[in-house]
Amino acid sequence: MLTNDQLSKWDRENFFHPSTHLAQFARGDLSSRIITGGSGVYITDRDGNKLLDSFAGLYCVNVGYGRTEIADAIAEQAKELAYYHSYVGHGTEASITLAKMIIDRAPENMSKVYFGLSGSDANETNIKLVWYYNNVLGRPKKKKIISRWRGYHGSGLMTGSLTGLELFHKKFDLPFDQVIHTEAPYYFRREDRSMSEEDFSAHCAEKLEEMILAEGPDTIAAFIGEPVLGTGGLVPPPAGYWAAIQTVLKKYDILLIADEVVTGFGRLGSMFGSDHYGIEADIITSAKGLTSAYAPLSASIVSKKVWKVLEQGTDEYGAIGHGWTYSAHPICAAAGVANLNLIDSLGIVENAKTVGAHFKKVMTEAVGSHKNVGDVRGEGLMLAVELVKDRDAGVFYDPALTMGAKVAAALLKRGVIARAMPQGDILGFAPPLCLTTDEADIVATATKEAVAEVCA
Ligand code: PLP
Repeated sequence: MLTNDQLSKWDRENFFHPSTHLAQFARGDLSSRIITGGSGVYITDRDGNKLLDSFAGLYCVNVGYGRTEIADAIAEQAKELAYYHSYVGHGTEASITLAKMIIDRAPENMSKVYFGLSGSDANETNIKLVWYYNNVLGRPKKKKIISRWRGYHGSGLMTGSLTGLELFHKKFDLPFDQVIHTEAPYYFRREDRSMSEEDFSAHCAEKLEEMILAEGPDTIAAFIGEPVLGTGGLVPPPAGYWAAIQTVLKKYDILLIADEVVTGFGRLGSMFGSDHYGIEADIITSAKGLTSAYAPLSASIVSKKVWKVLEQGTDEYGAIGHGWTYSAHPICAAAGVANLNLIDSLGIVENAKTVGAHFKKVMTEAVGSHKNVGDVRGEGLMLAVELVKDRDAGVFYDPALTMGAKVAAALLKRGVIARAMPQGDILGFAPPLCLTTDEADIVATATKEAVAEVCA
């Protein structure tokens, strides 16, 4: 077996890591962390550490680590038929079964599933479908997409544009002109402190309408949003937000893409965030929880309304010019079928709801009254602790102090992984949905200690 030193050397010399400070890593200021195994909510690394992963990888290992049911399904599929494509009506038992299982679980107005491999590629697909839809309907000008500041929709060219976080635009010549960003539904950071949640939702809807009118409603094709903002800070919407936004979108005939890459398949304690918040989407984006990341797979779930126009388009213009070699890859589809069966048999969605409520309660008790904790918020098993310099005066820390990263490091010392979110001093918690109340208590206690240590 290779030594850790040897692996770290090769790592520094050969591996271009995503979302990493490349120079620090190459210099060795940032060291490799080599993960070897996982079981339940814990992972182990090559240095012998056992860590409670309260971010489920990248909020994706929803059923937890080490599920042999999914591993066996993958192995069986690989032995029987590792690959066949899905172009021109081809498929496998796994891909056809999975499409049915998704539609059976999705909101009632959904009709068909297009499979990709990542949340980013699913959103790229969705934007192409929206453009195609408007071209087929004879509305060639209706093409712009409205996203939100702090939204996260991937890091491709179009999806990086949709993403509303500075880090993903800076020096990449993004966002593209076709994408515009509106106000984030971030109640804690509202400018007007006198606003109630309902007032703030109405304000966000007004801002959206202003933007639509300024650009021209006949130029706006779609609005994309996560039911709960994820990478932008794990922010549940203020009361009444989705109802207010949907009223505006309907008024101007603008499609709604619900990006449920994080919230799909149980994270909020409901099968989909759309069900949770009464969102009637035209397209739903899904990935992560679809296979619990045992294999890469995404789904663009298309509503009856959009599907009808896609069919019309192919009658007029021929087969749809969109597809990838690995669309509906049988191994990934087999993982998806086994994962969705496991979600049902383990009662994972209900667990996310009940343990999520407990987690928020114990986290609030642990750190909610600390002078440097401005907000403890969450829904289901998506929780954030936002650090502030002065809670009473409403002053945030200077980003250069990297307080979020420091508290995350102090948590790691205590055997708990939380994610320092990229914009703001926000600790993100989105553990596997099989988390127990005891494990939630461990995370809350460690957070209390870590905040006390760093903010002392
Ligand atoms: N959409 C949302 C809401 C996400 O959180 C992510 C990733 O975190 C993506 C899209 C992009 O998914 P991927 O990283 O699989 O491309």
